[in-house]
Amino acid sequence: MKPVLFSFNDAELQKFVTDLGEPKFRAAQIRDWLLRGAPDFNSMKNLPVALREKLDAAAQTLPVKIVKKLESSDGETTKFLLELHDTEQIECVLMRTTYGNSVCVSSQAGCAMGCKFCASTLLGLKRNLTVDEIFSQILVAQWELRRSGADDKNIRANGDPNNNDVSHIVVMGTGEPLQNTENVIGFLERANHELNISWRRMTVSTCGIVPGIYDLIKWARPINLAISLHAPDDELRSTIMPINNRYKISEVLAAADEFTNLHNRQLMIEYILLAKRNSSGEIALYNCTPERAEQLSVLLRGKNCMVNLIPWNAVDERDFASPSGNAVHRFQDILIKNGIHTRIRRERGTDIGSACGQLRLNNKKDKKQI
Ligand code: SF4
Repeated sequence: MKPVLFSFNDAELQKFVTDLGEPKFRAAQIRDWLLRGAPDFNSMKNLPVALREKLDAAAQTLPVKIVKKLESSDGETTKFLLELHDTEQIECVLMRTTYGNSVCVSSQAGCAMGCKFCASTLLGLKRNLTVDEIFSQILVAQWELRRSGADDKNIRANGDPNNNDVSHIVVMGTGEPLQNTENVIGFLERANHELNISWRRMTVSTCGIVPGIYDLIKWARPINLAISLHAPDDELRSTIMPINNRYKISEVLAAADEFTNLHNRQLMIEYILLAKRNSSGEIALYNCTPERAEQLSVLLRGKNCMVNLIPWNAVDERDFASPSGNAVHRFQDILIKNGIHTRIRRERGTDIGSACGQLRLNNKKDKKQI
């Protein structure tokens, strides 16, 4: 495998460049291109062509390669399937919104958590991603934004001159971030220092790894925390999220409260709305009946939180169905009536397969790897 220049520190990059017979200052130029997400050396337009060819023969830019790129028909969402050096594949998603450009990154190749509604866990966990591999997902998105002229797409209505930059990060793609906490923290530190992305525009989502939440408390940066809750009591939650057998809802919420109180942040609660087909083929609500909405209201009463309701995105291999729009709104209305801040997550990029992990899974199937 060719060396990955993005993974070199400054001294290593300078040595690499001078070993090629080039002056030291070329290293700074290359670093600048790498931080812009240049996918190949030919894109580095201020380097002489001969040097670009030499670099191309001797090295690669980032530790990820784009295998597939899908653009939603409204131009707001771009989904990438990326390949790593060991042929593992991951997904990341760029979302262009009125508040900024947000990237949802993966933290692991696959996932060991086994949530029953999720495509990302169907092939199990392959491995943790390195800091560079997580960081590169942002750079891929950054390059795409600059390449596609994000300012043509009504991004950042606030007139920010850097509107071709990634402004928000959500660690909510494939994998459980708090099973790879050290590298996720390393990545967020770099995104803050090197790309100037503010802590308050970063969100880490967990299915409820309590020791990992305490690691974030020790780290003490004012990021946002999201808890994938998906059920209002332990009995139901354990049927769809095996992690609940290890850490009960009360322990998870106690740790989350400590985190959000420390930083005076609003806790994000993620709640996927699931239905199931019964034996006569009718769709019955699973975790989103009116009774469950009342139960969830009691659980969250008095907390500084926002509940994101997420109608389930179909995954062929999974045994659930999407609830009707009416059922979704009824669930939300009950929460609102009970004083719980709630919003329905707008579906983005449904035409490009929005279920997390679906792109990777389908690509593996195409290659008959499962
Ligand atoms: S929902 Fe998240 S934690 Fe659960 S299996 Fe999927 S990727 Fe893993």
